Amino acid sequence: MAAEPDALSRREALEAHAADTAACTRCRLAEGRTQVVYGVGDPDADLMFVGEAPGFHEDKQGYPFVGSAGKLLDRLLEGISLTRRDVYIANVLMCRPPGNRDPQPDEIEACESHLFRKLELIQPKLVATLGNFATKLLSGKPTGITRVHGRPQEAVVGGRTVTLYPIYHPAAALYTPAMLKTLEEDFARIPALLAGSVEEPAPQAQVIQFPVAPLVTPAAPPDEQLGLF
Ligand code: URA
Repeated sequence: MAAEPDALSRREALEAHAADTAACTRCRLAEGRTQVVYGVGDPDADLMFVGEAPGFHEDKQGYPFVGSAGKLLDRLLEGISLTRRDVYIANVLMCRPPGNRDPQPDEIEACESHLFRKLELIQPKLVATLGNFATKLLSGKPTGITRVHGRPQEAVVGGRTVTLYPIYHPAAALYTPAMLKTLEEDFARIPALLAGSVEEPAPQAQVIQFPVAPLVTPAAPPDEQLGLF
């Protein structure tokens, strides 16, 4: 059996993958983007966050979660004594959908192998999926975030078993105080999950085979990504 690649070679492979995908033209979003937003953080992180797609500021700056939702994410991380340097942050899509509209199924399908490769190289133990799109994609199930938030579940992603931890998208919590409270509560469980000390009835392990889950979402504030609930 081949030896597991060490952290240095995984880091180098991640850099190479970022360079290889910087000019990606797999979907129509390539036409309107300023740049590909690959991901940011510790390439050997135990905790990875997966959001939805770059917005206006992310597209301009080239990093995920640098706008108002990102500021909240930073605050939530600080609340559990982490910074974004301790984790890895990526999105389902690497390019900004025009006007921050919802990712389309064919765009998700075009981009998902990029995300799976990141997961394969970073090898996180815990993957916090922010909102509906990341949760449905990585769980391979159509159940929405409102029903599954705060409930860790085992999943096999990129050939590895990880704990998926669906939580609300910070952009949704920006506008809804009750959701912010729930998000803070769900966030507070992250340290214990990372330490492996939360016993949760593990639903059946799910093998992810590039699923594109049905995506049904209500309207949301115009300036932020849609489909967050
Ligand atoms: N929302 C996301 O889902 N991702 C970002 O990078 C920014 C906002």
